[in-house]
Amino acid sequence: MQGLMQRRDLMISSLLDHAARHHGNAEIVSRRDDGTRARSTYAQLSRRARRLAQVLHGLGVRPGDRVATLAMNSDRHLELYYAIAGIGAVCNTINPRLAQDDIAYIASHAEIGVIFADPDFLPIVQAVAGTLTGLLRHVVTLSDEAAADCTLPGGMVLHGYETLMQGVSGAFDFPSFDENTASALCYTSGTTGRPKGVLYSHRSTVLHAMMMNFADTAALRAVDRVMPIVPMFHAQAWGLAFAAPIAGAALVLPGRHLDPVSLLDLLNRERVTVAAGVPTVWLGLLDHQRRTGARLDTLQRIMSGGSAFPRALIAEYEAQGIACSHAWGMTESSPVATYNAPKPGNAELDGEALLDRKATQGRAVFGIDVRAENDSGEAPWDGKTPGNLVFRGHWVAGGYYREPETAVGPEGWFPTGDVGVIDSEGYVLLTDRTKDLIKSGGEWISSIALENIAVGHPDIAEAAAIAVPDARWGERPLLLLVPREGCSPAPEAVRAFFRGKLPSWSIPDRVVVVDSLPHGATGKILKTELRRIYAA
Ligand code: AMP
Repeated sequence: MQGLMQRRDLMISSLLDHAARHHGNAEIVSRRDDGTRARSTYAQLSRRARRLAQVLHGLGVRPGDRVATLAMNSDRHLELYYAIAGIGAVCNTINPRLAQDDIAYIASHAEIGVIFADPDFLPIVQAVAGTLTGLLRHVVTLSDEAAADCTLPGGMVLHGYETLMQGVSGAFDFPSFDENTASALCYTSGTTGRPKGVLYSHRSTVLHAMMMNFADTAALRAVDRVMPIVPMFHAQAWGLAFAAPIAGAALVLPGRHLDPVSLLDLLNRERVTVAAGVPTVWLGLLDHQRRTGARLDTLQRIMSGGSAFPRALIAEYEAQGIACSHAWGMTESSPVATYNAPKPGNAELDGEALLDRKATQGRAVFGIDVRAENDSGEAPWDGKTPGNLVFRGHWVAGGYYREPETAVGPEGWFPTGDVGVIDSEGYVLLTDRTKDLIKSGGEWISSIALENIAVGHPDIAEAAAIAVPDARWGERPLLLLVPREGCSPAPEAVRAFFRGKLPSWSIPDRVVVVDSLPHGATGKILKTELRRIYAA
């Protein structure tokens, strides 16, 4: 017997319909390149997304077509999110920080016919356009006018976004269709091979957005002002651009200036209460605060993900009264799979043990199941037996776009490539990645553990531990570190700092002080690059 409840497909456009109707005056603030802030509302976003839908039709975009964006976080990028998905097309958010070669590969793999690009990124479009002849037909600059100095190969037309928007009536309603229809495509950089596409659906996106507003996750409210510092080209800004409209929370979009001075200024001026970004962002902001004494006046909650959130950072933010949440996931999981929120047992933990728990990646949210697997099957939840982490759930990829050999299927467990332990309360602690463990004399050393300890040293800003070949032990850890401004930590003193915190055999033999570490497009340290440089 079937239930008698209404069956309405989960549509991304419904998020916007709700926000426009019930939170029509909630603000969207978008910082432009010149530092000015454009202000609009969900009601305006809804109207402009409809106009944009007509523009897309005019450019020949049909349901199922992939439309690319090369853009930072802005109101126009948000309009694209909703308009492209709204007409049943697929928004391919290309990461502009990737190598040109990868961008060309993605655009051609996804068969992109139309690209919307920030003026800053037009040179990238120009550089890859030659490889896209016969595919790419329209390039639209996300500015008032088409940029005059961008020449494209024959058959490609350059447009200005606002000019196109003025040329349509806005009389359009988003259709409803099967909730499993693809909505967005995001390629993950991966450390080996070509980027791989994760193809989200309306259903997975809406369910993930609803999860983000659980009380024990980001818990956005109508009174919140939310700043996704995580780029909209990275796993859809962790779903915040969809979760905020559900709650009616204001959105503050930082544009291209992501340095600590600009961020702190925007956070305070726009009275942001919740912000999300990778640890590098939080580290930079804190360093800026230390140097200048600047305060974060309104920020109440931080969401950190993408790489491990060091406990020293958590402690310093919480000492300022800012609650820190550590989340884990991947592009392949939309991306949130676990979230760190307290359980009753936390009340029994003292200061240090509580901090240890807060530094874990958190526990599985409803909708996702996670387990650690080793040769004997599922590892016990004892907080010490490591295993390869696998997960499955409503917003986990069943395989990559046009890579049938990668399919794990609708019920399969997705291999994350991360290694971790799960404690008796279900909290997941990442101890390493499959490709990033250091194996010394047959024993594993966690590079993440080494880095977490290193950044707890008062003179160290950032650290990376890598495996270097060793004649006796197979591999030994090498620690590369970037000192905090004005500090010059002595390698021997750093090694001494490790003593007592880890078994002596796992303390790095060599410590190298460097000016900076190479970061990938999403802010992660490029270990492959470091291993290549320091292997010898
Ligand atoms: P991406 O798909 O680029 O978001 O990368 C996902 C990968 O980043 C995961 O498989 C982890 O290796 C890493 N990662 C994400 N969140 C965390 C976290 N909270 N702590 C440690 N590593 C993380």
